[in-house]
Amino acid sequence: MIKKYYLLSPGPTPVPEHVLAAAAEPIIHHRTPEFSKIFMDVTEGLKYVFGTKEDAYILTSSGTGAMEAAVVNTLSPGDKALTINAGKFGERWGNICKAYGIQYKEIIVEWGVDYPKEQLEAELKANPEIKAVFCQLSETSTGAIFDVQGFGEVVAKTNAILVVDGISGAGVMPCPMDDWKIDIFLSGSQKSFMIPPGLAYIAFSQKAWKFVETAKCPKFYFDAKKARKNLADKTTPWTPGISLIIQQKKALDIIVGMGLEKLFLHHRVLGDATRAGVKALGLELLAQKPGNILTAVKTPAGIEGGKIVKTMQSKYMAYIAGAQDPHKGKFFRIAHLGYMGGFDIITALTALEMTLSDLGYKFEVGSSVKAAEPILRENWA
Ligand SMILES: *Cc1c(COP(=O)(O)O)cnc(C)c1O
Repeated sequence: MIKKYYLLSPGPTPVPEHVLAAAAEPIIHHRTPEFSKIFMDVTEGLKYVFGTKEDAYILTSSGTGAMEAAVVNTLSPGDKALTINAGKFGERWGNICKAYGIQYKEIIVEWGVDYPKEQLEAELKANPEIKAVFCQLSETSTGAIFDVQGFGEVVAKTNAILVVDGISGAGVMPCPMDDWKIDIFLSGSQKSFMIPPGLAYIAFSQKAWKFVETAKCPKFYFDAKKARKNLADKTTPWTPGISLIIQQKKALDIIVGMGLEKLFLHHRVLGDATRAGVKALGLELLAQKPGNILTAVKTPAGIEGGKIVKTMQSKYMAYIAGAQDPHKGKFFRIAHLGYMGGFDIITALTALEMTLSDLGYKFEVGSSVKAAEPILRENWA
């Protein structure tokens, strides 16, 4: 067969053709009115997706750069923080804190398990010296989503700030930064924002800006005050990812044009169809509270861990994602965020079925598609 590549991973995600083509246009200079206009349009689009009246900043880095920016711009070495580690990306909050000498209390949540706001409330009562709470909207390593609205209610009553990594969740599920009392919200370009990797996005509440004034962590490239000063002049402190920002303008035209409500519904339909499909195969979900970003599915008994992902990728070129350390082989992840349509779910399920047949798993061929198809068809609007 012709080797056709099917990207079904939770980042990077597929990019619309006309957005890809925009990267081939001649480079324009970034200190020009022409670029400033595009740049400011993108920051407006980001504010819309983030649900905030505050300014949104574009960093030229992958999403982790915005995570690091959130830490270094608000805290000082020796400050106390709380990190919710419910997977690989929650763990990253702790690693960043460690690198900057932040004393962090790490809440270790079993992968796929929920962390209710009541537990956070109790932690903050018992540890009033905590200055910042770091969490994920969607923990991409497990497919679980969290009650960020509830976290916002709890943290707003304290002197701490709530920092939310929305790298995979923003634009897929509701998370209005201002309404939910989030102090720092951040995301990245290669997930729901429908462009290649290379940009990160971040916004600060007024409460968070007060922290910025006193934060003593070392920083240079990710200095929020420099970004704020430059944004007032409709520009960035450093050379921005010009082509990516032009691409983001085109992708935001799709996102804003469709509107968040429709986009959330779209992702819900894809999520529902995927979950119905894998359950029809007798498979189990990993997450207690699965989001519509991706579906993590437990590897069935009797199948060697890792073989599913390897076969799907090498034989069928369907690039789903595996489980990361220390859970390698125990589950696999099918993404349904960003520029994906209903037939991408059919592709994923069919490739999964063919792979499971190859590996000797017993099930009724076609049952996953049979379960997913009516959900897609009835909601195809
Ligand atoms: C992808 C992702 C990251 C890491 O982003 P990079 O762009 O790889 O730096 C962090 N957090 C979450 C929730 C993610 O999905």
